Amino acid sequence: MTRHYNFSAGPAALPESVLRQAQAEMLEWNGIGASIVEISHRSADFMAVAEQADQDLRTLLGISDDYAILFLGGGATTQQALLALNFASPGQRVDYVVTGHWGKTAIKQVSHYVDVHVAASSEADGFTSIPPRASWTLSPDAAYVHITDNETIHGVEFHDTPDVGQVPLIADFSSSIASEVVDVSRYGVIYAGAQKNLGPVGVAVVIIRRDLLERAGQPRADIFDYRSHVARDSMLNTPPTWNWYLAGLMFKWMLAEGGVAEFARRSAAKSALVYEAIDASGGFYRNTVQPAARSRMNIPFFLPDETLTTRFLAESKAGGLLALKGHKAVGGLRASLYNALPVDAAQALVDFMRDFQQRHG
Ligand SMILES: *Cc1c(COP(=O)(O)O)cnc(C)c1O
Repeated sequence: MTRHYNFSAGPAALPESVLRQAQAEMLEWNGIGASIVEISHRSADFMAVAEQADQDLRTLLGISDDYAILFLGGGATTQQALLALNFASPGQRVDYVVTGHWGKTAIKQVSHYVDVHVAASSEADGFTSIPPRASWTLSPDAAYVHITDNETIHGVEFHDTPDVGQVPLIADFSSSIASEVVDVSRYGVIYAGAQKNLGPVGVAVVIIRRDLLERAGQPRADIFDYRSHVARDSMLNTPPTWNWYLAGLMFKWMLAEGGVAEFARRSAAKSALVYEAIDASGGFYRNTVQPAARSRMNIPFFLPDETLTTRFLAESKAGGLLALKGHKAVGGLRASLYNALPVDAAQALVDFMRDFQQRHG
């Protein structure tokens, strides 16, 4: 068996120790005579796993009891639709700051229900920057302000929490959660699909300031109502138990490795290696994002032509560096450097990049 360095943007690499533990427990979990994936979500055994994951995520991210945490199926995109259903009245103004593909997707999910106002957008510059806070046209009566903390495809990341006054700030942290120290109390809602930094695809984590649950929102089915999910501890219907369990193993691994502060340190180290290699290449490799908005998680980069790009992909794969193809929306190459990816992997990529340039530059 050979496990290569995996730069996939998502579903993404998991730590080998987490996969090994899941493998060891696959047939029988904790002496109960069955797999964790074969038992009722309402059994005491699974409830303990669920509760432990909630506690560990609170510890990891520093989440107080003022916030509810949900573990839900449907991914991040479903949450994008539920935001307007739960937190805005019919036709109410909502403000979106768009810094890439996922900000646009978030708008698409809610435009049927609410009055979407784009308070700022960097689309005109090809999503290579974060519009300065002073240029945002926020609406005082907005139900919320939505941002995408890290744009996974365009490689653009907020490096601080914007001040949006009294209006609750909602942030899509799908590709950056647990990679930086964040003051959760600055946010009304933080949500993330798990398949980038938190574990396996199939579960999303939604962190909701409890006072927001008192909002009437739109007429909606119970299953789309965050209040109902909170009241039933994310077990309104059958939750994705295997994914929840696996995310729990990932939380334990991150805590044991040193927590978010350690992953912030590693993320800075990994991304600095790759950006330095790009910037020192004399234009052979290019990243077009403004330095102040560069993502530590996803680095899109480009070679002078398509022939070299194809060759880079083939040679890097043969050299044990997987999934460096850029998203089709921007082309080129992309290195995703999530929490499970070791610093050694970024070093191996940079070594390969230098060698490739020497041979083809
Ligand atoms: C991957 C991603 C999504 C979409 O997640 P799904 O779980 O596929 O719905 C949304 N936002 C961001 C920032 C992402 O990286």
